[in-house]
Parts: sequence; C-alpha cells; structure tokens
Amino acid sequence: MAFHSVPKWVQKLAPGYWWELPTPKADKSIYLTFDDGPVPGPTEFVLDALAAYRAEATFFAVGDNVRRYPTLAQRVVAEGHVLANHTQHHVKGWGLSQVAYLQEVAACQQALAEVTGQAPALFRPPYGRIKPGQGRALRAAGYQVVMWSVLSADYDKRLSPGRCLIETYQRCQPGSIVVFHDSVKAAPRLERVLPALLEVLAGEGYTFAALPAGKAAPTL
Ligand SMILES: [Zn+2]
Repeated sequence: MAFHSVPKWVQKLAPGYWWELPTPKADKSIYLTFDDGPVPGPTEFVLDALAAYRAEATFFAVGDNVRRYPTLAQRVVAEGHVLANHTQHHVKGWGLSQVAYLQEVAACQQALAEVTGQAPALFRPPYGRIKPGQGRALRAAGYQVVMWSVLSADYDKRLSPGRCLIETYQRCQPGSIVVFHDSVKAAPRLERVLPALLEVLAGEGYTFAALPAGKAAPTL
C-alpha cells in the first residue's frame, strides 16, 4: 500500500518546505496539485473537472512537456491556475550533482516563462527526492520548495479507484496540499477519483485554491 500521508515528524525534518499551509479550521481551503503534465488527455480532463467546480489548482509541469504542448500549457494559465516548476526532464535530485540539478530547474523555468509568460517561484522535486544542499540553493535563489501532506497514489496500478478516493478523502483537511498526476499512467484512477473528490469536498463547504506564488522569475 502506498504512503498516503506525511507524518508531522517527517515534515519537521524539512521545515522550510511547504507540506501543507497553515489554515484556520473555518477556512476550508484545499490545495490540489497535479504533477508531470501538461499532457493531452489527462490535463484537459483535469481542467474540465476543475472548471465544473470553479476550482483553482497548481500544476507542477515538466519543462519538456511545456515545450511539446505549448497551447495546453497556455490553457492551464489562462484558466486561472498556477503552472510551476517540476524540472525539465523529471529528474531525481538524489542522483544528480547540484549544478546539474539547478540547470534542470533553470531550463524548466525558462520554458515556463517563454511559453506562458509566467514563471512562478514554486518548485516541486520529482519523486520528492531532493538533497538538502539542492533545497538550500533553490531557497537562496528565491524558490519555495513544495512537498505535500496528502498523496493520492493515483499512479499506483494496484490501487482501485474506490480505495484511492477513500484514502485521499479521509486525509483531506483545511490547508492540505494534495498530489495527483495529470499523466497517462495515473489517468485510470485520476479520472474516476477527481470528480468524486471535488463533489464530496465541495458539498462539505471546501473551496480549492492555487498555491500562493511569487511573481518574480528567480535566476539561478
Ligand atoms: Zn513528478
């Protein structure tokens, strides 16, 4: 079974990263995030589902996909969502030198700026795998590193859509940062779970916001 929520003690090991946003209980905001797009099919499905609930979200994009599907990247931004950095080629920080990792981030940032005209200072490390020194360098350059508090595990082929929905729903609370993937691999679960989750949480009075993003395009 996948690791669905991040314990507080793990979050405290990297306190400079965002795991969830401090939110008063009365403010029922949830931060949905979608990694690895934009990809025709899954990303369009997500955009349509979000629009039906007036939901805003954050998409952590792979720079290569932004270059390959520019009109889709532009649609994400035009519909009020935040499109942010998930490296150029979806690389694991643990296996890369600091210079190579920062080049990956910079290339993605450049793709975002050139294709959409916006490059928010938010970064999510692929697989959550980032060395402390890489994280420090990115923070020094003005990036906010964004992790998550709720993992849908939508990429897990062994997980039924029903179980994926229940495990994700049960962990959502005000301020949660929830991870989905707008990828072909996750689509069979994502396309069943996302509309149902939006429906049930909206019925409980939740609203869905994009992560607050700095406007400046940081340089590395
Ligand atoms: Zn990813």
